[in-house]
Amino acid sequence: MYDVVVVGGGISGLSAAYALRRRGMAVLLVEARPEVGGALRSLTTADGFVLDCGPNTVTSSDETLWQELDELGLGNQRITADRRGARRYILLRGRPELIPMRPGAMLRSPLLSTPAKLRLLAEPLVPRATTADESVAAFFTRRIGREPTERLVDPFVSGVYGGDPAATSMKAAFPTLWAAEQRAGSLLRGMLTAPRATGQKRARGVLFNFTEGMAAWPRAYAAGLGAEAVWTDTLATGLEPLGDGWRLEVARSGRSQLLEASAVILATPAHVTAGLVEALDRAASRALRAIPYAPMAVVHLGYLREHMAHPLDGFGLLCPAVEGRRVLGILWPTSLFPDRAPEGSVLTTSFIGGARMPQLAALPDAEVLALAEEEHAAILGARGTPQLRHVTRWPQAIPQYVAGHDERLAVLERMEASWPGLYLLGNYRGGVSVEKCWRNGAALARRLVARARATA
Ligand SMILES: Cc1cc2nc3c(=O)[nH]c(=O)nc-3n(C[C@H](O)[C@H](O)[C@H](O)COP(=O)(O)OP(=O)(O)OC[C@H]3O[C@@H](n4cnc5c(N)ncnc54)[C@H](O)[C@@H]3O)c2cc1C
Repeated sequence: MYDVVVVGGGISGLSAAYALRRRGMAVLLVEARPEVGGALRSLTTADGFVLDCGPNTVTSSDETLWQELDELGLGNQRITADRRGARRYILLRGRPELIPMRPGAMLRSPLLSTPAKLRLLAEPLVPRATTADESVAAFFTRRIGREPTERLVDPFVSGVYGGDPAATSMKAAFPTLWAAEQRAGSLLRGMLTAPRATGQKRARGVLFNFTEGMAAWPRAYAAGLGAEAVWTDTLATGLEPLGDGWRLEVARSGRSQLLEASAVILATPAHVTAGLVEALDRAASRALRAIPYAPMAVVHLGYLREHMAHPLDGFGLLCPAVEGRRVLGILWPTSLFPDRAPEGSVLTTSFIGGARMPQLAALPDAEVLALAEEEHAAILGARGTPQLRHVTRWPQAIPQYVAGHDERLAVLERMEASWPGLYLLGNYRGGVSVEKCWRNGAALARRLVARARATA
């Protein structure tokens, strides 16, 4: 009998399991794949390229995260991105153009036409929304105009969610900006008057990774939890209430087994969670299945430095839909973390597919590689044959916070309220970034410990 069984060894489940274990709870984490990590997957090639097949960077300013990484023995392995990480590009008429980070630079930038810049100045005069929600595209077109929405907001949405701004819910995907408009009547006023706890300074976000790639973090969690508390190759197949607790059916290395626990955290993707709760709550199961996921093919290419015309002096570039390219964006990991490639070589990471072009994510390897190489030649002036070519498939990469997302989450909250001891966790809820998943896992662990103490 465990205090808590956590299903799913992505960053959400690992963060919760580790925080519970540190507070003295008897925890078991079960993970379907042979290793933990979920989307955090990395590999090092024989010739010395370090590939992050999922997330490439995490941004945080949270002291408790630094402490936890030290405690996990990752303090020396954590690497902070080069200052060039602050330089980000957007494609403009086929060429990478720096995103201006200050208002003065924005006025001089060719990214927007003069009428579009003047329209930006009118933002504080635009009335606030009177509807319950709006698409991201509709929200920004109304507030700042069509051109900045197409040129700047669209690539940002595909960069974070692999999403389509016309389908993404503003309230669910950007709750802080939605609330800022509702509170202050304008984004500019909202940002200038954002409430802050007294004495609290806004800490600067640090962009980081690890020497061996992002997967070092889940590996360290697994080591910290101990082999007896982490079962890999273990698929959760059924869940039912049992007295004051829960019975979970798992298939461990193909053999069926029953586990009992006072509480269960389902930290699995929404469609998996939907199957596990189907017999308990049909409405919750339907709500979970209705959350769409965008597919993504991630292509790594390694070139000799002299074969790349562009200096790759920044984080990477994003491609707005209006540019009509077949990549959503290309990151330049060797500019952030120089040891990602052997001496004299550069590494790039391309994202193909997403909600806008899902059919491209399903192309055969040869076609998806050819597509990425053609885009590198056209956009970055790459020539010659890459030294390294690698494709990673994510058929259900990132959940889409589309219209009706908040109503779906409300259905899930009602289910949790009617089934004490059952908790849903994961990137379809409370943000998709690694940092938010880590934070939500840790916060849920604190709630469970408080509940256990209250009922003890
Ligand atoms: C290509 C890509 C690039 C990204 N880039 C970034 C980035 O640069 N920065 C950033 O902050 N975020 C990025 N993200 C988003 C971020 O990585 C994810 O949102 C986050 O890692 C999700 O963590 P999770 O634990 O919620 O889910 P997951 O990582 O999906 O973990 C769920 C786990 O559940 C397991 N599982 C499924 N079914 C079962 C079952 N029946 N029984 C047991 N286990 C099961 C799965 O195997 C998996 O390990 C990226 C995501 C992708 C896909």
